[in-house]
Amino acid sequence: MNLRTLFCTLLVGASAMLSAQERVCHTMGNLDRLLNEHEQLHEQMEQIEAFTRTFETTPQLRNGNVVTIPVVVNVIYKTGAQNISDAQIQSQIDVLNADFRRTNSDADNTWSQAADTEIEFCLASVDPDGNATNGIRRKSTNKPSWQANDAMKGNQGLTPWDPSSYLNIWVCNLSGGLLGYAQFPGGPASTDGVVCDYAYFGTIGTATFPFDEGRTCTHEVGHYLNLRHIWGDGGCSVDDFVGDTPLSDGPNYGCAIGHVSCGSVDMVQNYMDYTDDGCMNLYTDGQAIRMHALFAPGGFRYSLTQSAACGDTPTPTCTDGIQNGDETGVDCGGSCAPCATPTCDDGIQNGDETGVDCGGADCPACPATCDDGIQNGNETGVDCGGPDCSPCSTGTCDVPAGTNAVNIKRKRATLTWDAVSSAVSYTVQFRVAGSAAWTSEATTAETSITASSLNNNVTYEWRVRSNCNGDASAFSPICSFTAGDSNSSSCAGERVVLAEVRAYPNPADASVRIEVLLGGDTPVSLQVADAFGRLVMEQELVDGAFVDLDVSDLDAGIYLVRATNGLTEDVIRLVVE
Ligand SMILES: [Zn+2]
Repeated sequence: MNLRTLFCTLLVGASAMLSAQERVCHTMGNLDRLLNEHEQLHEQMEQIEAFTRTFETTPQLRNGNVVTIPVVVNVIYKTGAQNISDAQIQSQIDVLNADFRRTNSDADNTWSQAADTEIEFCLASVDPDGNATNGIRRKSTNKPSWQANDAMKGNQGLTPWDPSSYLNIWVCNLSGGLLGYAQFPGGPASTDGVVCDYAYFGTIGTATFPFDEGRTCTHEVGHYLNLRHIWGDGGCSVDDFVGDTPLSDGPNYGCAIGHVSCGSVDMVQNYMDYTDDGCMNLYTDGQAIRMHALFAPGGFRYSLTQSAACGDTPTPTCTDGIQNGDETGVDCGGSCAPCATPTCDDGIQNGDETGVDCGGADCPACPATCDDGIQNGNETGVDCGGPDCSPCSTGTCDVPAGTNAVNIKRKRATLTWDAVSSAVSYTVQFRVAGSAAWTSEATTAETSITASSLNNNVTYEWRVRSNCNGDASAFSPICSFTAGDSNSSSCAGERVVLAEVRAYPNPADASVRIEVLLGGDTPVSLQVADAFGRLVMEQELVDGAFVDLDVSDLDAGIYLVRATNGLTEDVIRLVVE
């Protein structure tokens, strides 16, 4: 086989690795991102690890008490299919309970260390306000899919219920073929929990073979409870911090029963491998002990053991400060004292008022403003149209077209683009061509902006995006021009459709720098696979960024490095010596 044939064969292997039929969990990439964003996270995780080591080496009186974790499932959907049913959610809770208690019907005796982890899950019955809930929240959005950047946990999606009392699970449409990802203990409270793609959640409805037995969520909850991937996310010298799981040199896919690595048979049936749902069936005793370290007094998730979120809903009283029971207001109405009669001067919006003390049948009309959230006055839409408010938007938040640089002088130039009907402003980024980062950014309501203080004969790059109400477009293709050259404006846009990834040194033996150049503004997913298509590293980057990978633990050989922004990709060969 000549080299060209070998290279093509390897490429075929790589594309197979990226098909939707193999498990892709983004928890380690998410950890890398959080470690970059939160200075103190590393130390926090070290403390949890030290606490865990102490717990693991201190004789425990296992009293058989089962820890029950209250769960809230946050469903974020655009389509009806994504809005999965209550029954499908319950099927996932049932799987979690069976898998963690080892009452799963596919449990077998292959591994004697297989364990009942003595952890259970319940859909919350009490919400953070003390009201009854079924433990399921739903939100409709216009966003067709979500990246693994926690946006679904913010205001665009659903912010979590207090993670000290609830395990938050987000179910949404994840992009990039991801099945799910989790946040390890120690991370920020505002993003604590796990995310699962709606197509790989539960056992009915949208659940899709070969990930239709709920094991994606079992795996991600394992991460949430401090379990690492069973191969330790490295070669044979990297462990998963659990003593009774065999060493392994990488993930197993499909169901490679009997596969040997690092001198022993891999535990492909463990929930923390990358095998198909039907192949998995156990957690080990060591993994159970590692998880329980979190629940000991002083442990990071001890507060969950004190949560009353799966208890009885408190009886409503007329003095509990919340509107519950049959009350028609806070602690009034229904079986409580009547609520105060609304008046047009009580300083609150009540009765049928459409604003504070105005609108409705009894109060004077509210003055129309362009931000009161209702169509009133001479508006032709909600807070838009008419002579006083800005025009109503008519279209989608498109990327500005018609980008061009005009009046190019030695010191200044004018950057122009076509108006987007729904845009309220535009954000322009600017830099000297070839710079790693955008050095200047400005927002304008106009369709042009002046670049000044230029240096003659220097080439500059720029791009523009639309800002609409509550939304923003992607950036336009990158344009360039050279100061002093009136004919130099060009907006080829090739970088949006061409991906480029570089590695150096190559061959490498210890550390290799991977540099990614992709157009557009989307994060770039970087994956390194060995010659058999097995994923050995993954990482998320932004455009123009680079990362130094430690390859000293990798076996010598040929690896494939693939970068994609979801639209385009580039694959290069990396030789490790
Ligand atoms: Zn994982």
